[in-house]
Amino acid sequence: MKRVFRAASLLQVAHARNVLLTAGIQSELRNQYLAGALGDLPMLETWPQLYVEDADEQVALRALARAAVAPAGESWTCEHCGEVLEPQFTSCWRCGTGAAHEP
Ligand SMILES: [Zn+2]
Repeated sequence: MKRVFRAASLLQVAHARNVLLTAGIQSELRNQYLAGALGDLPMLETWPQLYVEDADEQVALRALARAAVAPAGESWTCEHCGEVLEPQFTSCWRCGTGAAHEP
């Protein structure tokens, strides 16, 4: 299985899952109820995420990109605390510092 999407909001993940279903791709939703339950895990790892079969990965990523729900661009690093952030974020979830980069 390959992870093709994750987001802090279950709504976003549910939307992405619908996009995949529309494209004919079955996905598996993980971490639906985990957020906040395991304090030792990095926060990103506790986010709800979507997994697809390996063979579906590229098709799934393209479908998500077309639907504009997948991250575009590069991850960036917060210059204040060093957290690595995914490109859809415009500010650091850890310390609130805004992105230095322009999308
Ligand atoms: Zn930061």
